[in-house]
Amino acid sequence: MATKAADESRLARLDVLALAAERARRYVREIGGRRVAPSDQDLAMLTRFYEPFPERSTDPAEVIAMLDELGSPATVATTGGRYFGFVIGGALPASMAASWLANAWDQNLALRVMSPVAAELEDIVLRWVSDALGLPPHCAAGFVTCATTANFSALVAARYALLAKAGWNVVERGMFGAPPIDVIVGEEVHASMQKALSLAGFGMKRVVTVEADGQGRMLAGRLPKLTEHSIVCIQAGNVNTGAFDPAEQICARAKEAGAWVHVDGAFGLWAKVSSKYHHLVAGFEQADSWATDAHKWPNVNYDSGIVIVRDEAALRASMTATAAYLQPSARREPMQYTPDASRRARGIELWAALKSLGRSGLAELVDRTCMLAQRFAAELRKAGFDVLNDVVLNQVLVSFGNAETTRNVIRLVQEDGTCWCGSTVWKGTTAMRISVSSWVTTEADIDASLAAILRITRTANLR
Ligand SMILES: *Cc1c(COP(=O)(O)O)cnc(C)c1O
Repeated sequence: MATKAADESRLARLDVLALAAERARRYVREIGGRRVAPSDQDLAMLTRFYEPFPERSTDPAEVIAMLDELGSPATVATTGGRYFGFVIGGALPASMAASWLANAWDQNLALRVMSPVAAELEDIVLRWVSDALGLPPHCAAGFVTCATTANFSALVAARYALLAKAGWNVVERGMFGAPPIDVIVGEEVHASMQKALSLAGFGMKRVVTVEADGQGRMLAGRLPKLTEHSIVCIQAGNVNTGAFDPAEQICARAKEAGAWVHVDGAFGLWAKVSSKYHHLVAGFEQADSWATDAHKWPNVNYDSGIVIVRDEAALRASMTATAAYLQPSARREPMQYTPDASRRARGIELWAALKSLGRSGLAELVDRTCMLAQRFAAELRKAGFDVLNDVVLNQVLVSFGNAETTRNVIRLVQEDGTCWCGSTVWKGTTAMRISVSSWVTTEADIDASLAAILRITRTANLR
């Protein structure tokens, strides 16, 4: 009897998987034709989720049906090809499918022994990532949720290394009373880096801020005196303009002084794979640590960030946990390289994405999204609008007149639903931010989005 019950529950599980797959396939099939932001009606349906914690059980098939019927219409169509907000990748077919299979595996990659296959795949994909980004081959790395956690993890490793040189073991003694460390950032530092500085005990504001040029690039000539107690945080790809800090000059200065250079390269580092854009990434390989995202330009499913550190011992020492049941191992134990212990085996989807694209596919994805950003910028300029940045990568900033007009256009574009663009303020000017980051975006998507934006600027009588 027990076996029969187990058999039946296994079959029920298969049924609900088939049901979910069918619904997911329909979602994927229809997403390109849908409005990008959900309508007010779609959002109103979400109130039906509200109920007290159910006293009784519900058939899993019913749970999934409810999730799809109420939930799917209220998603934002970031996988559809006309989402240009923030820096949001789509999800490559190989990545999405690998995610389904890996979810069935449900592997915990705290330790190798918990999932030999996931551990091997992460070792392999790390080598591929270092190769793709042009980083030294023997760096240590951790698979984390996002670039913010990657920035945080790198700072913690830097903190360990610099304080160890000063004779202070920060793991044991903490930050109170430790020798001071100077942190240097650019004027256009990303909010993520500031948050990471706060989390790591450096303080968001307890930094030296270096002036930047009109594109947001740190002026290397304005760097303060660096020492072996300095951490310089530089950027590969400014979130507004796509601009890169002058890494070669900054790293040379830092190396002379014995300072640590950390790179926030959430999306920009991936330009390295393109023969058209790799010059922008020159010099960044000289740094000591790097943070990047696989869920942005490589179009891997959420959540997928990576921290890479040249000095393996520093990352390991700062992330080590010891307990009697954690056996020492000669090989890379994932939880000794990240703030997390238990975690999903997120390297699997990145492996699938990079395996399916190959170097040429990844380069083509970078080139195509940059080309589409250029197309956006050229057409907006042609229509008489002010493109505020040099479109060197996949980011475009456009103003439609004064701040109020620009904000109105952005609101109306979001409501219209053809595409989705966000807003920013660049050097005092309110602007629409357009980021082309999805593998699925085509010229037709750009043209349909441009037509919608230009129609809105006309009908709203804003010109
Ligand atoms: C997106 C971004 C981040 C933060 O990335 P998350 O994955 O959301 O943590 C940090 N820095 C830059 C330059 C970014 O573009």
